Amino acid sequence: MMDLERVNEYMRRIEASEKETFKPVGSKLKVGLDLGTAFIVLVVLDEEDNPIACEKQAASVLRDGIVVDYTGALAIVRELKAKLEKRLGGRELINCAIAMPAGTESSMKTHSYVAEGAGFEVTNVLDEPTAANSIYQIENGVVVDIGGGTTGLAILRDRKVVQIEDEPTGGTHVSLVLAGNYHITFAEAEVIKQDYSKHREILPIVKAVVEKMASIVKKYVDPKQMDTLYLCGGTCCLTGIEQIFEKETGLTTIKPENPFLVTPAGIAINC
Ligand code: ATP
Repeated sequence: MMDLERVNEYMRRIEASEKETFKPVGSKLKVGLDLGTAFIVLVVLDEEDNPIACEKQAASVLRDGIVVDYTGALAIVRELKAKLEKRLGGRELINCAIAMPAGTESSMKTHSYVAEGAGFEVTNVLDEPTAANSIYQIENGVVVDIGGGTTGLAILRDRKVVQIEDEPTGGTHVSLVLAGNYHITFAEAEVIKQDYSKHREILPIVKAVVEKMASIVKKYVDPKQMDTLYLCGGTCCLTGIEQIFEKETGLTTIKPENPFLVTPAGIAINC
């Protein structure tokens, strides 16, 4: 069973490192680069995995886990790296780990080129659910990662990923439904969606999209073998998403206070 309080506490510290730079223990710094469909995130940890600093930027340089705008991706990673190095008093960040969404391993080279082009040495390439499970540390269960473009899941048995699936339907689809419903632009819909005070109002509108995400998970999980889902990814920030998942799948659904930076932090741990 995951220790939810430990995860919440760690994620609070990661979140704090977006605004504040913490003093590292030891001489080595670890970096996790998460190239996402909706956000690019860089997390810096010290050698004891204490959160030191974090920067992120909204970006649409990837589609379905694949880099579609190499120059754009490179420019953003360079900028985020420079911002972090400035925050660290000019200290250069050298090593970094990266991760791929499930099923896009063929694009591994492009991800590495972006990291290397920005001046990193890539020390590890992992899959996103394994990265998330470095934070969750569950033995048996299902990690569900809902980002901008897709709903991904990893079935873990004895701490090993035994099955990985990833299908379209993510936060982008949620925003499209909101935009259509309110007759507003996609960008305006994104703002409403990320405003926690609006979640109660928007949940009934986007319920069908969330049910679709839950149906993707249900299709791959045998409730006789697995009884718990562990949510992560930006879209899981939606208040009430866990109740819809429980109802649709019949599985206990656990979500930390902030599921957004779980995968980027998990990538950094593996640097
Ligand atoms: P992918 O995993 O599909 O490559 P990604 O890694 O960029 O994408 P995340 O960063 O995990 O995905 O999540 C991005 C999504 O989370 C976006 O659709 C964004 O609108 C959504 N999101 C971010 N914050 C919130 C919030 N507070 N409430 C609801 N949705 C949110």
